[in-house]
Amino acid sequence: MNRHRRAPQSAGGVCGIAYVDRVYQLHDAAEPGPLVNPLAWQANLDGYQCLVFLHGHGIFSALVIRSTDDRDLVGLRHNGAFDAAVRAIPGLAEWTDPERSRPLTDVLPGGTLVNAYRGQRGPDGELALPGLVFVGDAVCTTTPNFGRGLATTMLQVDELLRLLDATMDVTERSATTSRLTDMGEAFHAWTEANMRPWVQDHAIMDDALRRRWGGEDIDLSQPGLPSDLVMEASRVDERIRPAIGPYVAMTALPAMLDAVEPLARVVYQSMWRPVLAAGPNRRELAGIVDAAAA
Ligand SMILES: Cc1cc2nc3c(=O)[nH]c(=O)nc-3n(C[C@H](O)[C@H](O)[C@H](O)COP(=O)(O)OP(=O)(O)OC[C@H]3O[C@@H](n4cnc5c(N)ncnc54)[C@H](O)[C@@H]3O)c2cc1C
Repeated sequence: MNRHRRAPQSAGGVCGIAYVDRVYQLHDAAEPGPLVNPLAWQANLDGYQCLVFLHGHGIFSALVIRSTDDRDLVGLRHNGAFDAAVRAIPGLAEWTDPERSRPLTDVLPGGTLVNAYRGQRGPDGELALPGLVFVGDAVCTTTPNFGRGLATTMLQVDELLRLLDATMDVTERSATTSRLTDMGEAFHAWTEANMRPWVQDHAIMDDALRRRWGGEDIDLSQPGLPSDLVMEASRVDERIRPAIGPYVAMTALPAMLDAVEPLARVVYQSMWRPVLAAGPNRRELAGIVDAAAA
C-alpha cells in the first residue's frame, strides 16, 4: 500500500561539503570590505572556498567552505581557530578586522549539506496523498553557494498557485479527489522538469569541486563540464558571458549552458586554469587551526 507514504529522494545526495559561518557587524561608519558583487565577496583558494554574505544594518556572515574529507579543518568551528584562520585569509581579514567589525555570534558549523530532489509520488508511482502537496525544501534543496533555496521555493509556490487557479473552483466547498489528483500530478511533472535539473546540476558541480580541492585536475574526459567551470571560462572566452545571467538568475534551466559548454571545453583544453586567490592552501590552513588549538 502506498497511501500516506512518499518515495525517497530520487536525485542528489550528500554533497561532501561543509562550512563554518560567523556573523559580524560593521562598526558605525565603518566602510565595507571587498565585494565581488553588490551582495557578496567570494574567493577560491587552494583546497577550499571563502564567502562573505551581506545582510542588513552592516551585518554580514563570513564563511569558510571545505570538503568533508578535510578532517584537519574541523577545528575551524572553534572561535579561536576561526579567528586565526580569517586573519590569514586576505579578504576575510579585511572584513573581520576588529577595527572594522565585531563578531555577533560564535562560529556556526553548517552540515551535513545535501542536494536533494523528491517528487510528489509514493513508492508505487501514485501520488503519496492527493490533496497533500510537498513544496519548497521538501521538494528541492541545493548546496548554499548559489543561495538558491528561496528562489526554488518561490518558483514552486508560483507554479502551485497557478495550478490551483487553473484546476480549482474557489466557489466549491471541497475539490473532488480527481481534481486534486490532476493538480498533484501536474505539479509533480512541473517539479520533475524544473526543479530536478537544479539538484542534478549542483550534485555534479559539488562532486567536481571536492575533487579539485583534493588536488585533481579538471576532468575533461567526462561529457558536460560542471556549470561553475563553464562560467569561469568566460574570463577567457567572452562569448560564454551572455549565458551566465539567465543561469545565475534561474530564468532558464541549467541546460542553457550546454550551448556554450564546448567553448569552455576549448578554454580548458588550452591548459588555462582558474587563478586561485592568494592565501594559505588547505594544508597551511590546517596548520593555523592546529596552532590555534594548541
Ligand atoms: C543557514 C541557512 C542559510 C540559508 N541561506 C539562504 C540564502 O542566503 N538564500 C536562499 O535563497 N536560501 C537560503 N537558505 C535556504 C532557505 O532558507 C530555504 O530554502 C527556504 O527557507 C525553504 O523554505 P520552506 O518554506 O520550504 O522551509 P522553511 O523556511 O524551513 O519553513 C518550514 C517551516 O515549517 C515549520 N515546521 C517544521 N516542522 C513542522 C511541524 N511538524 N509542524 C509545524 N511546523 C513545522 C518550521 O519551523 C519552519 O518554520 C538558507 C538555509 C539555511 C538553513
